[in-house]
Amino acid sequence: MKLIKAEIIAIGDELLYGQILDTNSHWISQELDLRGVKVIRKTTVGDNRADILQAFSEAEERADLILITGGLGPTQDDLTKPLLAEYFGCPIVEFPEAVAAVTEFFKKRGREITPLNILQGHLPACCTYVPNPMGTAPGMWFSKKGTYWMSMPGVPYEMKKLMQDFVLPKLSKIFDLPVIYHKVIKTVGIGESWLADLIKDWENALPQHIRLAYLPSPGHVKLRLTGFGTDQKTLEKEVDIEIQKVLPQINKYVYGFNEETLETAIAKLLKNAGKTLALAESCTGGYISHLVTTVAGSSNYFQGSIVPYHNQFKNEILGVSQETLDEYGAVSEQTVREMAEGVRKLFHSDFGLSSSGIAGPDGGTEEKPVGTVWIACSGEGILKTKKLQLTQDRLLNIQLTGVAILNLLRRCILNIEE
Ligand code: AMP
Ligand code: MG
Repeated sequence: MKLIKAEIIAIGDELLYGQILDTNSHWISQELDLRGVKVIRKTTVGDNRADILQAFSEAEERADLILITGGLGPTQDDLTKPLLAEYFGCPIVEFPEAVAAVTEFFKKRGREITPLNILQGHLPACCTYVPNPMGTAPGMWFSKKGTYWMSMPGVPYEMKKLMQDFVLPKLSKIFDLPVIYHKVIKTVGIGESWLADLIKDWENALPQHIRLAYLPSPGHVKLRLTGFGTDQKTLEKEVDIEIQKVLPQINKYVYGFNEETLETAIAKLLKNAGKTLALAESCTGGYISHLVTTVAGSSNYFQGSIVPYHNQFKNEILGVSQETLDEYGAVSEQTVREMAEGVRKLFHSDFGLSSSGIAGPDGGTEEKPVGTVWIACSGEGILKTKKLQLTQDRLLNIQLTGVAILNLLRRCILNIEE
């Protein structure tokens, strides 16, 4: 089966100025990827004749499918249509059906049509007219020497409508496309390169038609397996077999698959175990409570939290001893341990979690630089603490602490050693 290669050309000065984010290319890439069409390049060009023509000819050299968005307005600055006519060597002529559609578009809205708008129904003679029910600029489909082209308006909802109604259904008719299957393994608590090292033998032994991608984000690494084949059921089975092979090596880092988040994974664990949770958040200021309560049904296991930002309240509310605070300081293993135990008692919960750290950008010392964070998890007959050495960035430190603390809770519930 031949790999179908696509290119996306986004046209518009506003994209280059940074005024508008090119969300069209992002969306189109995702849709093509789901259908087994490989996007090999995305190009952004301004409303400039030479640049647009060059983008056309370069794309034609490489791609089987070229999707163009933007530059289709009725005004002088929008050049895509005349340049497509020039590129394909055909005149712009009236398409009565297109003129009727744009006339109707204005009539329905009770607006006067202008001569400029009527011209939107004039298209290169060599294109197939593709109606645009959401706007006034029609889509244009071309086919030349085995390459297919589609030109669409830049307005995202108009482009999407043309893709959904016309381009995407056409793909399986004009191309012999593979069946694709993605499955994502979600991991936490291990860096990308350590993970890669751990699973390198498995990765090297993967069959040709199953590919692996590492997708890191703060605190997490996703492993995405993508299988290419001809039969959906067989492919799903093949990918799942490979996942079963690797799981024993990485089990303690895996909290779920596909859409699962750490918060929803924790929710399942607590619900299944019939256990409850309380939080004492110092440096995270309530962020973890927010994460926990984003999950519907969290009231089944979340008892509550407090933010004892000032030491006085670590002592008065949670019972952290004054000696501990004086001797070791607020950012210490001893303090987070007493906070976790204290909050567990206070809320009569099965688990108590705590955080205390120097989020930055100020407040660091030589002994405890910015990014030093202690976290603890206390449960019946179990106590786990962990020191994190994070970054100089305050918000990132809070976010990373959130991931680490939920992972500590996961380890506490499942009794996983580091
Ligand atoms: P145009 O078809 O060039 O007249 O584009 C119309 C409007 O669509 C522009 O003013 C932008 O706001 C928006 N737009 C154009 N291209 C893109 C793109 N690649 N991604 C997102 N929005 C876009
Ligand atoms: Mg434009």
